[in-house]
Amino acid sequence: MNRIKTVNDFNFKNKTALLRVDYNVPVNKQHIITDDTRIQYSIPTIKKILSENGKIILISHFGRPKKKYDKNFSLKFLVPYLYKKLKVPINFSKSCIGEETNKKVNELKNGEILLLENIRFYKEEEERNENFAFELSKYGDIYVNDAFGVSHRLHTSTTVLPKFFGKKKCIGLLMKKEIQFLNKFISGTGNKPITILLGGAKIISKIKVIENLINFSNHLLIGGGMSYPFIKIKGGKIGNSIIENDKNIEKTLKNILDKYQNSNNRLHLPKDILIAKYYDNKTKTKIVPINSIPNEWMGLDLGPNSIKYFSKIIEKSKTILWNGPVGVFELSNFSLGTKSIAKIIVETTKKGAFSLVGGGDTIAALKMEGLDKKISYLSTGGGAMLESLKGEILPGIKEII
Ligand code: AMP
Repeated sequence: MNRIKTVNDFNFKNKTALLRVDYNVPVNKQHIITDDTRIQYSIPTIKKILSENGKIILISHFGRPKKKYDKNFSLKFLVPYLYKKLKVPINFSKSCIGEETNKKVNELKNGEILLLENIRFYKEEEERNENFAFELSKYGDIYVNDAFGVSHRLHTSTTVLPKFFGKKKCIGLLMKKEIQFLNKFISGTGNKPITILLGGAKIISKIKVIENLINFSNHLLIGGGMSYPFIKIKGGKIGNSIIENDKNIEKTLKNILDKYQNSNNRLHLPKDILIAKYYDNKTKTKIVPINSIPNEWMGLDLGPNSIKYFSKIIEKSKTILWNGPVGVFELSNFSLGTKSIAKIIVETTKKGAFSLVGGGDTIAALKMEGLDKKISYLSTGGGAMLESLKGEILPGIKEII
């Protein structure tokens, strides 16, 4: 964190900030924002620049348009929303470069914002295109990246555009928080004990996360579909449970088990499991030991002993990270484990622990219980958070250092 400049290192008086944000927010059919966390978290950066009488040009993407204009993906719906939040003129440009944008940029006054149209309407955004970046760079004096959610992607506005700003580039305050909080886990600087809970279904994308984080944490809990590959390798019976199988990961999982479960007990797997034959709310369920799931049955949620076991570890922790549900929480039959974990993390946070939660499904599970506001920090980037947790500096951050 020492080497990277933030907006606090600059004075924006009479300067134009080219501010890359991630306003890829969830919306309903009427284009009403259903979760504005990403915008809320970007406000401190905007206010800092405007308070110094600077101008802001906002660059963002929204959804996955087919690299051309599509009114369903236009950012125009954000204009009234931003005005309500900031009470300053919000100008809008229907393009990101070219004559119309030049005109709007020239007309922009100190203390005002110009929002450019969805940058993903340009195929160049995903092509690391120097010319496109150069055209954009003409509009700003200082480049600011506050788009944590896309900082793991090799896109033009995050990894090529900053190259045109020499030393006049920095990260915003949202990005600063994400880096600082993730560092508690990546470098083990958080108060101990540090506990990390990983769930969800896809283990392959998280294997490097496990290998990296286990060095810095006191407890690594594995739940959900992530646990079955481990159980299988240990010789357990997992029936029809979900398993992301890949011959190449077996050896890695074996090494992790040998190193951390058998010898120093840092890796924790569920004890018992709730099983069913079908993904259905009305189907019959049973609780069995996790290594004895009968044929045709699937493990779909933590059993009561697993909930108790995980909860005991969490409630003694001072720093907690959670990514991935511990069961098929979308169906009420299989949601008790995930709800219980959410509750115990919230209770431990109330007692003074720091909690960080990331990933769309995990945050959705918190919201279902109305607990999202009771977590210390919700990461604004699921994919970017997982990439950071592998111990790698994200491309969008590397370009600022
Ligand atoms: P991921 O994208 O890897 O974080 O996976 C999230 C998904 O994992 C959610 O939709 C959950 O329903 C699913 N999931 C969690 N536990 C299980 C399980 N035991 N069996 C099947 N799916 C699961």
